[in-house]
Amino acid sequence: MSTNQPVDTLLTTHEALFSERAAGIKQSAVRDVFELSLDPSLVSLAGGNPYLQVLPLDKIGDIAQRIITEQGPIALQYGSGLGTPELREQILEVMAAEGITNVSVDDVVVTNGSQSAQDMACKVFCNPGDTVLCEDPTYVGALNTFEAYQVKAAPVLTDEHGLVPEALRTKIDELRAAGERIKFLYTIPNFNNPSGITLAAERRPEIVEICREAGVLILEDNPYGMLRYEGEAAPTLRSLDEQNVIYMGSFSKIFSPGLRIGWAAVPTHLFRRFYLAGEAVALCPPTLNQMIISAYLTEHDWRGQIKTYNDLYSSRRDAMLQALATHLPEGITHTHPEGGFFIWLTLPAGIDTYELLQKGVDAGVIFIPGAAFSSSESAHHKLRLAFCAVDEATITEGVRRLSALLEAEISK
Ligand code: PMP
Repeated sequence: MSTNQPVDTLLTTHEALFSERAAGIKQSAVRDVFELSLDPSLVSLAGGNPYLQVLPLDKIGDIAQRIITEQGPIALQYGSGLGTPELREQILEVMAAEGITNVSVDDVVVTNGSQSAQDMACKVFCNPGDTVLCEDPTYVGALNTFEAYQVKAAPVLTDEHGLVPEALRTKIDELRAAGERIKFLYTIPNFNNPSGITLAAERRPEIVEICREAGVLILEDNPYGMLRYEGEAAPTLRSLDEQNVIYMGSFSKIFSPGLRIGWAAVPTHLFRRFYLAGEAVALCPPTLNQMIISAYLTEHDWRGQIKTYNDLYSSRRDAMLQALATHLPEGITHTHPEGGFFIWLTLPAGIDTYELLQKGVDAGVIFIPGAAFSSSESAHHKLRLAFCAVDEATITEGVRRLSALLEAEISK
């Protein structure tokens, strides 16, 4: 006897079972555009995927094969929720390369990408209705996590030098006066996704001080920090304050995103709660992938590999800046990122970049509409371009198509 019901009926029955949390989860605009980007006739300036063709793929293949044949029963087994001891030690070296030396191995937990570290932070600190502070604009994946935990994201004003300290102070006071419970500031101080903006060195101690005084934790998300193409690196917030900053790092941009390995460096007094939250979701980060990364870090010149990435991305960034300077119509401004993957365009107010995306598809170029990255109305006339994933000639052609489209929109 078949008990199958029509899908519509079934969905109506089961929708009543959804949690409030799940009902609020939306498909990210970045995912929508990802589907579009598979069309080869379109130039995609949308995707923020690293360019993995420059990795030593044969060598990584040999490493993976050797690990499985020689240490298979360990590599294919469950592991510690903390991560493998070897990788946790090596993460200290990677952090030292970014100037962070005030972390002990006991404070490092390996995670399933830094995305899961964001999830763990929300799980540990946030109740439904709590508030977190963030840059405006900020990373869409973080906004989605906040939404999934029914946490309110309160955008703080940023300018071309990143978060504005005075605006942060005022925002905290205003929210507190309105009875909001603020848990942490989520910030991407280096080469923000989507804006490409970096928090100025002189603002960093002030931001750290404001949060510490206000009893607001900092969640520092730094996946792009080592992808710098010009200028001097500023100190990480974690290196300025080891007690009030949870630092999130990732191998996704300096090596490979598909291995899904990131980490969090957590103040000692918070560490146990933090890693138990991760264990409850995934039990442990993938053992094989951690072992591949460990061997890669030992046997390959990983710093040289980052330089290879940086040479590549830096010339793609230059190609995009050059194309924007040549083709972009008057009245449109853009950021000048010192590193990372993204440039942020501000169009005249009134042009809705969601609507523009459909016209972009017709014109053969796609990007990510700004509204995806903001919980305020401020980004509707903005958009994100990525220069990491396609070559210089494609970037130039994409910017040319986009500029022609914008020209037509502005002169309407
Ligand atoms: N934070 C930011 C700012 C990102 O841009 C991304 C990925 N695009 C992530 C976190 C997630 O990285 P991971 O692959 O380590 O989960």
